[in-house]
Amino acid sequence: MSAAGFATAAALAETRRLLVPGATPLELDAAAERVIRGLGGRPNFQLVPGYRHTLCVSVDDDVVHGIPSERAFRPGDIVSVDGGAEVDGWNGDAAFTVVLPDPARPEVVAARETLSAVTESALWRGIAALAGARHLNEVGAAIEDHIRSAGDYGILTEYVGHGIGRTMHEEPPVFNYRVDRRGPAVKPGLVVAIEPMIVAGAVETFLRDDEWTVTTADGADSAHWEHSVAVHAEGIWVLTAEDGGVAGLAPFGVVPVPIP
Ligand code: MG
Repeated sequence: MSAAGFATAAALAETRRLLVPGATPLELDAAAERVIRGLGGRPNFQLVPGYRHTLCVSVDDDVVHGIPSERAFRPGDIVSVDGGAEVDGWNGDAAFTVVLPDPARPEVVAARETLSAVTESALWRGIAALAGARHLNEVGAAIEDHIRSAGDYGILTEYVGHGIGRTMHEEPPVFNYRVDRRGPAVKPGLVVAIEPMIVAGAVETFLRDDEWTVTTADGADSAHWEHSVAVHAEGIWVLTAEDGGVAGLAPFGVVPVPIP
């Protein structure tokens, strides 16, 4: 799964580079597909029945599953980009959020940057928890505790992370919150996509008329960060991070180990 994770990371890095005011989600989508195919993979989002894009691009109150459009990004937008690659029958899946600069609205930009930073650190907190977990649901407990300590944010419960392997979405679910079950044992061979979806308001969502885009009911901003993470005999390795998770895990005292 390393190759699929590498292609996913490369596609999202290129997407991040191109994500500026005036660019369009469809341009990002085409660039991500080029990168993935150039690395011998194919966009696995295109394998989801009814979906024909490489990325989901969700702006402002759209949380996840936004369909790439021709509407240009504007200053101050908070944009979440989700994508994945399949290489040799194995899958990667990752997402990031970015806030575009807007000198005219510093307070809006600051609040959105904080929301994204809290979501990203919750992701890394969850990955760090996986490194020491005996059971998978310890991940969600760590994410929830992190979010609750960060302020008045909402954790989406209708959408959760997932196992990943031969297909992009597999058992088991990976909750972003505490549940009353321990979940499966964490042991070598487990690979999961951890993906907190955090909102600056209430957690209620609705589906837009396109029947894909998940949007907050109260119009609040949202952020989404995701990585695919492998548990192996020597430790954990973040497959969709270019450094395997070294930088992201450092604040939590966890050192990822390359897969032997
Ligand atoms: Mg996912």
